[in-house]
Amino acid sequence: MDLAASVTRQLARVVSPTGGGSKQLYFLAFVAVFTLMISFSSPVFVQSGPYLAGLILLALTTVAAFAVPWRRLPSWCGAIIPVLDIVAVGLFRDVLRTEASAVSLLTIIPALWLVARLRIPGAVIATVCVAAAIAGPALVRSAPDLTSTDIARALLLPFTVLQVGLLAAGALKVLDGQARRMTATLQEKEELLEATASWERLLENILDSVPVGIVVVDREGDDVLMNRTQKAFHELCSPTDLHDPEESQLLLRYPGTATAIPPEQRPVRRAVLQESFSNYVISAGPPGQAGTKFSTSARQILDRHGNRDGAVVVFSDVSSYVDAVRAQQQFVAAVSHELRTPLTSVIGYLELAMDDEELPEGAAGYLAVANRNAEQLLTLVQDLLHDQITRSTVDGLELRRHRVSLIAQEVLESAAPQAEKSGISLSGDIEESPVMLVDAKRLTQAISNLLSNALKYTPRGGTIRVRCRVVESAVEVSIIDSGIGMSDQEQTNLFTEYYRTETARSSPIPGHGIGLALTRALVLAHGGQISVRSTPGTGSTFTIRLSVDRVSTS
Ligand code: ADP
Repeated sequence: MDLAASVTRQLARVVSPTGGGSKQLYFLAFVAVFTLMISFSSPVFVQSGPYLAGLILLALTTVAAFAVPWRRLPSWCGAIIPVLDIVAVGLFRDVLRTEASAVSLLTIIPALWLVARLRIPGAVIATVCVAAAIAGPALVRSAPDLTSTDIARALLLPFTVLQVGLLAAGALKVLDGQARRMTATLQEKEELLEATASWERLLENILDSVPVGIVVVDREGDDVLMNRTQKAFHELCSPTDLHDPEESQLLLRYPGTATAIPPEQRPVRRAVLQESFSNYVISAGPPGQAGTKFSTSARQILDRHGNRDGAVVVFSDVSSYVDAVRAQQQFVAAVSHELRTPLTSVIGYLELAMDDEELPEGAAGYLAVANRNAEQLLTLVQDLLHDQITRSTVDGLELRRHRVSLIAQEVLESAAPQAEKSGISLSGDIEESPVMLVDAKRLTQAISNLLSNALKYTPRGGTIRVRCRVVESAVEVSIIDSGIGMSDQEQTNLFTEYYRTETARSSPIPGHGIGLALTRALVLAHGGQISVRSTPGTGSTFTIRLSVDRVSTS
């Protein structure tokens, strides 16, 4: 129902006697008391015919106010009661014109009821009724010697009623306008609320139906939303003995290792620390099991002023993708291994044949070509195999520790020929490191991965420095290059498997994005840390830091 209409109707109910009748009863009660008082001093007036007629009319009107279903009748019918009241007051006034002419002021009350019902037309009807019921008889009575004073006196009350009625109608119009505006505002708000609620429902349905986990945190880092998939993921990563663990208590590991991800490196925490990242792969589940692999990404949410308002983190289960890649790697490794044995034999026999001095003319040349191509094929097969072995190492890290001092010098020496070939100046600044309990082969692999990256991503004419020093109780090995470098954004996902920077991907430099993930896994397995500092176009510094105490005692 239109609220303005309802407000107006309520207002009319409050100020007019129809539809409830209590006001009319109150009016009748006043007239009864008034009549009683008059009857003490001047009973003749009260017993006169017009006065009694007025009383009967008023009583019948009051009964009608209660009995008639006014709300079901057209609204103008509400004017009937006040009009009859004015007629009744007219009859009282006629009798009391000399004793208590002020009784005519009672007409103001039904006049106001008329205005409340019908606004300006109500004021006009009231004026006409007052003129007819009060001024008319007065004028008729003084008809033969009617003076202008009589006319002026007779008009006084109708004029007052008209003025009061118009004023009241004006005030009610203002109220009507306010009520209409209020209705419009309320309706607008209601529509907005409905629209918001239906958007919310839609969003909830969408969020709950997507197969990726979504977490939204506010700027304080508290969860504000977690969709159904994410709740299931959360459960999967929860230790069995904890009911609703925090992110720091979840069973999250670096993929392919048993090393738990430190709290500040966990995806939601990173997002809370205002980082945005993509494809950060983590493994969930108890150590010793294959675990579910998640690719996680985070974006910061900004409000309309550009201020940070929270973050959204997305978890996508990539286990089947990773498994498929692993299966394919194992297949390639198996095939290349099978190819290597017969190829080695072919090369062996070709070499034997080439050593034969009685070869027919031209055959030596053919054999040499066949041998060269077979060698090339063997190199390709070995590269393939090496690549697969390198990748699968990330999955099953087992350290064979011995007491040795670090071997950066060896790595430096073995990279020298490659550096020379690439026109890069390679230098070393190597302090002797203390003896530590480490898997020397694995650490050599880690350092040579970094050095081989430096060689790959440094253009001809550049420099690479290998620095090994003992800082406090830690050994730090840094590979400092003057190569292509990386932006801060590119560095975010650097240690994630299969990640390559945009610059690397769009360059002809070959790579799979596996070396740094493996290097980090190797360093972490030794309880160490790996960090990077890099500037695009200037170069990069990768640093491995191993705590002497930790490595020697573990
Ligand atoms: P890739 O086989 O692609 O070299 P890595 O895991 O070793 O794989 O390295 C991941 C990515 O990190 C590279 O693709 C490259 O974009 C970037 N990167 C690694 N080392 C350097 C470096 N020294 N300078 C510039 N970019 C590097």
